[in-house]
Amino acid sequence: MLKILVVDDSETVRLKISQLLKQLGHKVLEAENGIVALEVLRGNPDLELCICDINMPEMDGLTFVEEVRKKNDETKDLTFFMCTTETSKAHRDKAKSLGVRGWIHKPYKDSQIIHLVEFMVKELLGDTA
Ligand SMILES: [Mg+2]
Repeated sequence: MLKILVVDDSETVRLKISQLLKQLGHKVLEAENGIVALEVLRGNPDLELCICDINMPEMDGLTFVEEVRKKNDETKDLTFFMCTTETSKAHRDKAKSLGVRGWIHKPYKDSQIIHLVEFMVKELLGDTA
């Protein structure tokens, strides 16, 4: 089981991804923008994975990742996957420079979320998980 943060300004997307992850047995927290996500992360430094939108009001997803990387605690190395309609090279280059692990294009398929989480379970918890 992983503790996962889902960040998206669309309530529908957050709900759908959260429900899927909960069905897989994971613990899920949600945030509607980067500002709220920073707050959630502050209160939950044991989060292990973040699935994050880019285009959001208040603070976009890549700025959120940037803020996390600037931190001085254990949360600064959080594993990120972006889930977005964005396709531009500039965004992808920025994500890469910030150590974002992967990219899921919207509209995503449930199987893509399932695969990435299975992959991270193996990496973070080992094959016995
Ligand atoms: Mg959005």
